[in-house]
Amino acid sequence: MDMFSMRGFDGHERVVFGYDEATGLRSIIAIHSTALGPAAGGCRMWPYASTSEAVIDVLRLSRGMSYKNAMADLPFGGGKAVIIGDSRQMKSAELFQAYGRFVASLSGQYITAEDVGTTTADMEHVARVTRFVSGLGRKPGEAGGDPSPKTALGVFLGLKAAVKFRLDRSDLDGVSVAVQGVGGVGYHLCKLLAAEGAKLRVSDVREAATERVSDELNAVTVPVESVLSQDVDVLAPCALGAILHTQSIPTIRARVIAGAANNQLAEESDGLALQTAGVLYAPDYVINAGGIISVAREYYGGASEAQVTNEIQGIPVRLLEVFERARRENRPTHAVADQMARERIRRNEARLVA
Ligand code: NAD
Repeated sequence: MDMFSMRGFDGHERVVFGYDEATGLRSIIAIHSTALGPAAGGCRMWPYASTSEAVIDVLRLSRGMSYKNAMADLPFGGGKAVIIGDSRQMKSAELFQAYGRFVASLSGQYITAEDVGTTTADMEHVARVTRFVSGLGRKPGEAGGDPSPKTALGVFLGLKAAVKFRLDRSDLDGVSVAVQGVGGVGYHLCKLLAAEGAKLRVSDVREAATERVSDELNAVTVPVESVLSQDVDVLAPCALGAILHTQSIPTIRARVIAGAANNQLAEESDGLALQTAGVLYAPDYVINAGGIISVAREYYGGASEAQVTNEIQGIPVRLLEVFERARRENRPTHAVADQMARERIRRNEARLVA
């Protein structure tokens, strides 16, 4: 495994491997950039088929966090962690404490939180051994806690901005949305969409998850295999990444893609393919920043939930900036967002040097 020539490597500052024999912890932390502050990003627990697969994932996810934090104007660089293992079978307090010691060993260069496969409760175990963790329990009215509802709010506002931009619709009444994955974020997104009259089609590999949204919100369940090709106005990917690729893109009928999943484009070229197909793609790390905004305010303290909600209103504003610039320059939205994020990071590096 030659990490420096791996797909996903992008001048990362540090990539560290952690192992704990007693608990079986196998974890990797990737710090992409600390130019804007300590590297922050969640910890994903996933049964990766190989270490190389986990490395590629953590490299890509941590770079995405640098861009996400820069675009959200947060005093954070970009980092991410993965724990290799099945979250339904391997979790224990000891495992997360071992992971917490691994995080602590980086002396605050990396701040962790929950992500796919990990929860607020897991982070409470981490918090017993390190203070470099966020996304914990909180008192009512205070910033923080489970970031998923905040991510969902940002995606909802961003989705509305994209619908206005592409479909010239100011409301969502009757707008059809296919949601892939109705877990932490997808479920809350569906609630917000249903409250504004959107027509929902949902899919999830867990039957209980789709049952909940069809019972509560009248959503129609569609097969996992065909959710991306539904004849709908909007597609909201809220499961895993790399779902937009050369095979799936030609089948997409939605004119807007706006969802929470990280790294939705399998390859850079897929962003161009979407543009060519006339699909407006809301860059994932711009639209899904609500959770990290909440995590940041909780970590630094002194903010209220209302302030976090207010800050999340900036997401559709930044998205519109991306959409306008992409239209002006006739470029794919993801390429414009990447450039804007890099410009923000470089500006700050220059300020620090000066
Ligand atoms: P989650 O694990 O709670 O939910 C994901 C859901 O997707 C689960 O219900 C799972 O069963 C389902 N799923 C998995 N594979 C699927 C498939 N092939 N088809 C349909 N459904 C499938 O995760 P989450 O916290 O809701 O996050 C969803 C996505 O959003 C992830 O990509 C995550 O990285 C991203 N994200 C989450 C947050 C957050 O605050 N939680 C913030 C930013 C980005």
